[in-house]
Amino acid sequence: MITRRLSLTVGWRAAVGSWIGAALIAGCSAGGGGDVPMPAEIIGFAPGEDYKLANYGGIKAYFEALAASTDRMALERIGESTRGEPLYLAAISSPSNLRRLGRIKEITRTLAYARDPEAGYGSVLAEEEARALAREGVAIVWIDGGLHATEVAHGQLMPEMAHHFVTDESPETRRVRDNAVVLLMPNMNPDGLNIVADWYMSNVGGEFEMARVPELYHHYVGHDNNRDWYMLTQVETQAVTRQLYHNWFPQIVYNQHQSSPFPGRIWMPPFENPVSPHLDPLVVSSLNQMGHSMRRRFDEEGKPGVNSGIVFDLWWNGSMRGGPDYHNMLGFLTETAGAGYATPRCYDEDEIPDTFGARAGNLPAKTPSTNYNNPWLGGCWHLRDAMDYMMTAAKAVADMGAKLKEEYLFNHYRMGRRQIERGNAAEGGPFAYVLDPRASHDPGAVVEFMDLMSQSGIEFLRASEPFPVAGPEGDLAFPAGSYVIPPQAFRPYVVDLMEPKEYPDRRQYPGGPPEPPYDMTGYELRFQMGLEAVNVYEPFDMPAGEWGEASTDIGEVRGEGAAGFAVHGNANAIYRALSAPDRLRTVHTLATPNGDIPAGSYWLPDLSADEARALAADHGLTLTGVSSPPAPGAAVEELEKAVIEDTA
Ligand SMILES: [Zn+2]
Repeated sequence: MITRRLSLTVGWRAAVGSWIGAALIAGCSAGGGGDVPMPAEIIGFAPGEDYKLANYGGIKAYFEALAASTDRMALERIGESTRGEPLYLAAISSPSNLRRLGRIKEITRTLAYARDPEAGYGSVLAEEEARALAREGVAIVWIDGGLHATEVAHGQLMPEMAHHFVTDESPETRRVRDNAVVLLMPNMNPDGLNIVADWYMSNVGGEFEMARVPELYHHYVGHDNNRDWYMLTQVETQAVTRQLYHNWFPQIVYNQHQSSPFPGRIWMPPFENPVSPHLDPLVVSSLNQMGHSMRRRFDEEGKPGVNSGIVFDLWWNGSMRGGPDYHNMLGFLTETAGAGYATPRCYDEDEIPDTFGARAGNLPAKTPSTNYNNPWLGGCWHLRDAMDYMMTAAKAVADMGAKLKEEYLFNHYRMGRRQIERGNAAEGGPFAYVLDPRASHDPGAVVEFMDLMSQSGIEFLRASEPFPVAGPEGDLAFPAGSYVIPPQAFRPYVVDLMEPKEYPDRRQYPGGPPEPPYDMTGYELRFQMGLEAVNVYEPFDMPAGEWGEASTDIGEVRGEGAAGFAVHGNANAIYRALSAPDRLRTVHTLATPNGDIPAGSYWLPDLSADEARALAADHGLTLTGVSSPPAPGAAVEELEKAVIEDTA
């Protein structure tokens, strides 16, 4: 049996000091002064110049050198990219804060879950204690260098941004270091940065300077690496998710992109409608406040072209910035105007349209409005301009985190407590979801779903005893091994992935065509994964069991396998199970039943009993011994092993 328990604990169980003992590269020299390298000293040029892009080799070398030169930044390797690059996360703060990171994280975790860490599940942290923790703690402000590799500016900016937050001695930046930990992730898709930067630098000045990169900039999922944030299929997504929901619990998650609606120069919150009914309203108002505060800084600095309230909505959960909103964090993005890699582009005034177009509600583009109060009327746009805009935005975000750190920390608790109370009252969803794996079409899908919940920091219980709950038509009995997802702080995330969506009927004008949604409008994993989940509205006492564990202990081997074993065709886990090189096997699909084994099952004729038991234990599969080979014609063509490999 493999119990998919993550190395970091879920929920209220404190993981004090998980930083300590991690692969930590931290400097020990003092201050942020003269010995701290400038980006150009390490990279060879200052990113931001026209016609030049640094690849990840230079960016990571800079972060390593910076960490070694200062006691204001700690650099942690949080994982590895698909192609083997280190995924780094830098924590910038005052040296005294960096020395107490264990305590700082304990505070953010406790407030995020709104649990009493001593009493655990079922408890609610008292308000006075939450206020004391909010005073003691500091804000965690996440700012990343993006994941869409052709959107180059933020990735190029991250060394400069790190240098700024480490070395700047203005009262504002000192306050940031004293009252916040600024988490800078240099790049969430370093493979893509290498692909794009290397392509551009080998073509700049030539025929293909502005051509699209002729390969996906994420090896498996390309641009949809930002559509992976609840299925967590990619190693980069998994690594960042661990940091968000198991390690840091940031109050602010700022994700950078570079596709501003034209002719705007940077898009920022407030978001477009609709708003998911599952979000805590305080998330929405706090995002609005953040956006307005950012915009004000642009106006102070005289940077035109800030647009808001169009295109990007608060409905969808699957993006890097969306998932945090459903964890009561302020997850948001900016979309700064791009040029084309590092090649500048100039716009004449007559190239500026009158409006942002139908998808943006025809927001006027040449006259001021609340969503676009300082129109950008054309001119040249360089990589450097985009980076300057991003720097303004990042400073505004960090400043807000530092100034309002106590509010942000306490509000994380306030929202978590409110969501627990809403769950206890079965408001906007059931009291609990109960899932018996064996009741589902594919029991392994339940294990996979619970594993996703575990990675996303969701509290759940795997019952070790049978238990009854009150159903709409009398008591229901669930066996040991069933999962319970009870009321909790991150309930919006669970409800949003379980309940059917009713996307509002929004029209461009009365009787007109529908307004296109920003992205997917329905993504209920209960349906997409075929989960048999029961909504329970009457509160009940939690049965005995283990918290936060998704277990594959549902597999079994039935009968002898004189002619190998068969696996039911509904078992998706078979693909992953057979993808390991040492487990590649000849696989047939049965066109007709073989005894009790239904048609459509996979038949593995050369699988030994020991191997069958290992597959059952590791992947939760049920294998049935095949006593004699299927009659000729009953087994269809052998599946290509390569297909099995690619599907994993
Ligand atoms: Zn993007």
